[in-house]
Amino acid sequence: MIMKTCSKCGEQKAVDLFVKNSATCKDCQREYQRKYRENNRDKVNKWQQKYYENNKDKAIKWQQKYCEDNKVKIKEWHKTYREINKEKISEQQREHHKKNKDKISNQHREYYENNKEQLSEKQRKYNKKNKEQIKAQQREYFEKNKDKIKEQKRKHREDNKDKIKEQQRAYYQNNKEKIKAQQREYYANKIAAKG
Ligand SMILES: [Zn+2]
Repeated sequence: MIMKTCSKCGEQKAVDLFVKNSATCKDCQREYQRKYRENNRDKVNKWQQKYYENNKDKAIKWQQKYCEDNKVKIKEWHKTYREINKEKISEQQREHHKKNKDKISNQHREYYENNKEQLSEKQRKYNKKNKEQIKAQQREYFEKNKDKIKEQKRKHREDNKDKIKEQQRAYYQNNKEKIKAQQREYYANKIAAKG
């Protein structure tokens, strides 16, 4: 390893810890820049702002071009960042959600209220377009979970025995004439079929 002595801190360091052709090491340069910024904050801020004002278009263009040229790299970087900070991020999201529970659900409700028609139109279109697929999914789900669904239904009936009886009684009361007419028709057809 090639070593070099920093003219500022006097430490002997590997040459790649120096900016090329510089007598001081990177640590010292960083420290110098930090101190300089601290001592000249107003001046630097003004200079930066002025530079930005004068070169706004150039700066924006440069940024756009940088994003465009490095799309893959940036995406990769984001992915890596998420990968490394997965737990931190999901913890933050959980926290954010917890803190803003009411606000978020209000926003959702409001969004739904304001876009009700578009949303249901969108849903309707989606359903229509994917009718077969949705049916197939439902069929598949039912096939896979047949026993579970049966058990759920049985349990529901068991748990709501009285309520269901009451509903049936009420339905019969409200539709007595219709039901009687249907029964009459059913038996009349049966008799007619026998000849
Ligand atoms: Zn140094």
